[in-house]
Amino acid sequence: MSKMAPPEELMNVNYSTPSEPWMDVRPEFKPGTFSYPGKPDVLKYLGLPNPRDWSPTEEDWKLPPDWRETIRDGFRELLGKYRSLKVFMDCCVRCGACADKCHFYIGSGDPKNMPVLRAELLRSIYRGEFTVAAKILGKLAGARKLEEDVVKEWFMYFYQCTQCRRCSLYCPYGIDTAEITFLARDLMNRIGLNINWILEPAANCNRTGNHLGIQPHAFKDMMDFLVDDIETVTGRRVEPSFHRKGAEILFITPSGDIFAEPGIYTFMGYLLLFDYLDLDVTWSTYASEGGNFGSFMNDKWMKKLNAKMYAEAKRLGVKYIIGGECGHMWRVLNQFMDTMNGPADFLEVPKSPITGTVFENAKSTKMIHLVEFTADLIKNGKLKLDKSRNAGITATWHDSCNTSRGMGFFDEPRYVLENVVEKFVDMPSQTIREQTFCCGGGAGLNNGEFTEMRLRGGLPRGNALKYVQEKFGVNTMSCICAIDRATLPGLADYWAPGVKVTGLHELVGNALVFEGEEERTMNLRQEDLPGLEGSEEEE
Ligand code: SF4
Ligand code: SF4
Repeated sequence: MSKMAPPEELMNVNYSTPSEPWMDVRPEFKPGTFSYPGKPDVLKYLGLPNPRDWSPTEEDWKLPPDWRETIRDGFRELLGKYRSLKVFMDCCVRCGACADKCHFYIGSGDPKNMPVLRAELLRSIYRGEFTVAAKILGKLAGARKLEEDVVKEWFMYFYQCTQCRRCSLYCPYGIDTAEITFLARDLMNRIGLNINWILEPAANCNRTGNHLGIQPHAFKDMMDFLVDDIETVTGRRVEPSFHRKGAEILFITPSGDIFAEPGIYTFMGYLLLFDYLDLDVTWSTYASEGGNFGSFMNDKWMKKLNAKMYAEAKRLGVKYIIGGECGHMWRVLNQFMDTMNGPADFLEVPKSPITGTVFENAKSTKMIHLVEFTADLIKNGKLKLDKSRNAGITATWHDSCNTSRGMGFFDEPRYVLENVVEKFVDMPSQTIREQTFCCGGGAGLNNGEFTEMRLRGGLPRGNALKYVQEKFGVNTMSCICAIDRATLPGLADYWAPGVKVTGLHELVGNALVFEGEEERTMNLRQEDLPGLEGSEEEE
């Protein structure tokens, strides 16, 4: 990772327009701004073409000899398969409404990070290859030829897009640049232009069930550690079950939650909640990843990794699936599952065994988000919660792009949060809910070598966070996405030091009051509760 410049320097973004026409500006691969290519053995495992060692900083990218034909044929195939692509290629009027809406443009000032221009990188080839008039008029009509510099530019800028869809919100024609990025990545995969931080997690998900490649016994061992920690904090021994056939519910969450802070505390919150409700729920090491890394590659892998979860639900004979605090799992579920692998008719429409609420919204997917399940419990008075267990917290809410813009969860998480903390403040309205700003690490960009660009992309979110930190004393940002939980602590340390990041069910787990429980002195992080600091040492 390159040494980071201080925030004052990164904030000083140059928004001036380059003097040369954009087609003449070559991409510059500087450390910190691109992700490392896919490793040959991972490409081989995934059956992807052109496995080789190569570097974006070298002139020769070792493309296959027929790469132009492959791209042309692939583009033609995708245009035939997805009407949306054809519409997106044809209907942009270059009004510029999306131009300043991308966090990577705001943080870098690079015009090719304007969504309109990012899409133009592909559109110019569409015009040059597939439209007669533009083919003849060439540059005058915004068309260009398929040269190596073009695919180098694609690699730079389509891997500088987190597929967050913020830009699409402002487009009067509904052009979804995230989908353009998705399809551009599909094309690049066909000639071996991909990044390892997407491919390796996807390969691991396929092989072991989770993106980290954790083997079943290790997954169980890690869960046992967290069960021990819960006992230390609460005095309760929770007993999660694995691969239990005939359980009512299969629970699937991002594997990042079992592996690292702060996700592990959210994971402990899940375990406590299920124990509190005596929920008939099983875990699976085969479906031990909610995140869909295939959705950063192409439709084939997105479909396969989504199908894996449903295959496990079928094998176990559960009634329905509850999913944990994940981001892209929900985007895939809400936007693609039904036409890709659905409807999941072998499962039942989710019905809360505690409140009797039937989740009609999940009629075809048969899968609900834990946040809607928990909000329903609170609304029906089924949870005894003690906000003072989270005393000292002034919280704000980060709407994760995939669960908010991609799924519509705006009110449920805020409702849960307001029921478990004493103080809650939203960030400025133009940075939340539908208009939320990305963490900068989505769509496979949460890797170490990309840190500078990710922090640049994190500027708008960091700026809004700093505002509520300074104005209202916000010291905690909560969210329901594992990539956010991995990315936001670094973002907060850089742009708003002193703010910590939590998952929502960590705070729920802290606040849950069990009948006849032992008095708690610590939260799930094993920090003393306010007023009890140092009490153990004094005894
Ligand atoms: S989808 Fe998000 S990251 Fe991609 S161009 Fe649009 S705003 Fe930028
Ligand atoms: S807002 Fe839509 S139509 Fe306007 S420039 Fe952006 S993509 Fe094109």
